[in-house]
Amino acid sequence: MMTVVEEMLRCPSCRGPLEKEAGGLACPACEIAFTMLDGLWDLLPPQSSDLKLSEREHYTEKIGYYLDMHATWRDSPFYLHYHESFLDDLRLLPTGSLILEVGCGLGTDGLELLRSGYRVVETDIAPGHLGEARRLHRENGYGDSCDHLLTDAEFLPFADDSFDGAFMVACLHHLPDPLNCLREIVRVLKPGGVFSLGTEPNSWQNHTIYPLGKLLLKAVKSIVDKPIGGEEMVSEADKLTEGFSRDQLEGLLREAGFTRIRLKPAGYLSAAIFFVSTEFSQMVGRNLRLFPLEKAAIPLDEAIGKIPILSRYPWHWNALAR
Ligand SMILES: [Zn+2]
Repeated sequence: MMTVVEEMLRCPSCRGPLEKEAGGLACPACEIAFTMLDGLWDLLPPQSSDLKLSEREHYTEKIGYYLDMHATWRDSPFYLHYHESFLDDLRLLPTGSLILEVGCGLGTDGLELLRSGYRVVETDIAPGHLGEARRLHRENGYGDSCDHLLTDAEFLPFADDSFDGAFMVACLHHLPDPLNCLREIVRVLKPGGVFSLGTEPNSWQNHTIYPLGKLLLKAVKSIVDKPIGGEEMVSEADKLTEGFSRDQLEGLLREAGFTRIRLKPAGYLSAAIFFVSTEFSQMVGRNLRLFPLEKAAIPLDEAIGKIPILSRYPWHWNALAR
């Protein structure tokens, strides 16, 4: 039924052992049954919040849109450089180590780790995205070294000390209580395990260029006669988030129980070029990219990140914590 993770599965509510019963799994202590949804084990606790359930729906219904979007940026030098950067932090673990991804989305980062010889447990709240991740991994021949489970990131259905490493990419800001999730990751990691956080948004943009950009877009829309942009595709949590300043993110990681924390700036100019061209492409309904410019900006971004005052204001954060 599961190849990698079966022994370490626990009830997401009470963390007690699960029992197999006809057609599913059950927690005898909580008297809750868990069944499959679209061929995926659904291990959400009964108390999952409205915001998370709305994310589940959004990222399932709009799966076609996200697949199309990913195809437009998977060759982006900005995207590739900063994803390789946090994946390389995990590659410090010996080959064959067991790595958990929380909020795996389309599973593209997990595929890179499978290719590097790791065993991976992929989790996400949205069946649409998780099903795509499983398809991707099976198609590439990794069906035996990867499991896919529907979970709530704040109630992970695993025993304590289960994983050698864990990672999370652009997901923490989707959660109502990020600290709960980080505490859960500390709990399921083995002592000394590695946690890699990838491309989590900084907060300064929300007080500066995002409101300005919205005003500008409104102005353009009032001048141009025809409608610009299609249906709104931003999830509820993306609308609500304010990102994380360096102090906020470091504070959360420390409070969750990590002791060795390294925050790494992930993009300045290359990120701005990436996001402006993404927004513009969506507005005009055509894929307009500036990959050579992004590529040229990366060495400059690495240098900017070493300047103390500017090191607080990258577009995104990558982080390595133990
Ligand atoms: Zn239970």
